Amino acid sequence: MKILQQMSVMGHERVAFHQDPESGLRAIIAVHDTTLGNALGGTRRWCYASESDALMDVLRLSEGMTYKSAAAGLAMGGAKSVILLDTPGQEPTEAQARAMGRFVDTLGGAYIAAEDVGVSPQFCAWMRDETDHVMGDADHGGDPSPYTSLGCFNAMKSCLAHAGRPVDFAGVTVAIQGLGATGFKLARLVREAGGDVVATDVNPHAIKRAIDELGVRVLADDEDLFSLDGVDIIAPCALGAVLGEDHIDHIKAPMICGTANNILVDPDSDGQRLKDKGVIYAPDFISNAGGVIRLAGLYLGMTESEVDAKVAEIEATTLEVLRATNQHASAYDAAVAFAKSRIEAGRTPQTA
Ligand code: NAD
Repeated sequence: MKILQQMSVMGHERVAFHQDPESGLRAIIAVHDTTLGNALGGTRRWCYASESDALMDVLRLSEGMTYKSAAAGLAMGGAKSVILLDTPGQEPTEAQARAMGRFVDTLGGAYIAAEDVGVSPQFCAWMRDETDHVMGDADHGGDPSPYTSLGCFNAMKSCLAHAGRPVDFAGVTVAIQGLGATGFKLARLVREAGGDVVATDVNPHAIKRAIDELGVRVLADDEDLFSLDGVDIIAPCALGAVLGEDHIDHIKAPMICGTANNILVDPDSDGQRLKDKGVIYAPDFISNAGGVIRLAGLYLGMTESEVDAKVAEIEATTLEVLRATNQHASAYDAAVAFAKSRIEAGRTPQTA
């Protein structure tokens, strides 16, 4: 891959590589855009098929963080890092986390690391032993998932409003894929607001807990969550790339709003497909921004109530983007345009 060429196509400012022979760490940090400020983004530990795959993942994820932070109204840019594992499921070590922390520190705060797939609050704490530029350990924001779930719930309210329905979950059925950190809490918010939840998870313990504690309905073996009758909102809260052409053709629900990153297989064509079908889609990087709002907000010195107000703003932002969808190819396009307009506004000095 021609790295500099790819960076200029995608608009990246900086990509840094590091290998630490003592701990075996191999890692990449990609800083996409710092127009609005330093850039916070998770550190992903993953076993990639190739170094090119790892590089493309970190380039793509860091670009997404730029739009997520900008659309959330944060004075933050976009960045992300990946740690390349030799084998799937390799156990994290303190030595690797500390080596990663030292790597993060070399960027002098332009990049702020946080939790992502394969990284726990303990891993963040070990990184933090080597640098101030880490969020998400127990003393610095902790687990952001309650804020992610609440932000997504707020985005759901805008979907209902945009559909011309009462913003009231009584009589609303939400189909949740994944009852983990974010999906379970989202299910609880929907149930507490009087809505029904039908859900699926590959982990039987997660399902049992949701049945016992929340009374969710679980899918029968022959049912497909994304094509169920009687569902109002589909909420992907497990994996990315779950909604593509095959699923979209069979979707019966009028709305989609979840916590997962990169819900659409191809945001351009699938976004357009949803718009053509009349399905309201809350763009994922807006609906799942609650967690980054929490961690970036605390890093920027916001108070708890300022963080809460920003998470509440997700409702208004989602509605603004959904209303602008008609002027764009899709809701996803409208969301990217919205984020880019905020970045441009940040670039231009404001006159009084
Ligand atoms: P999690 O690992 O806690 O939960 C994911 C759940 O999905 C697990 O219970 C898992 O068993 C289940 N699952 C996996 N594959 C499945 C499948 N094929 N069908 C049904 N269930 C399946 O993860 P999380 O923190 O809840 O994150 C979920 C998604 O939200 C991810 O895409 C993540 O990147 C995104 N996200 C999370 C946060 C956050 O604050 N945690 C913030 C932004 C985005």
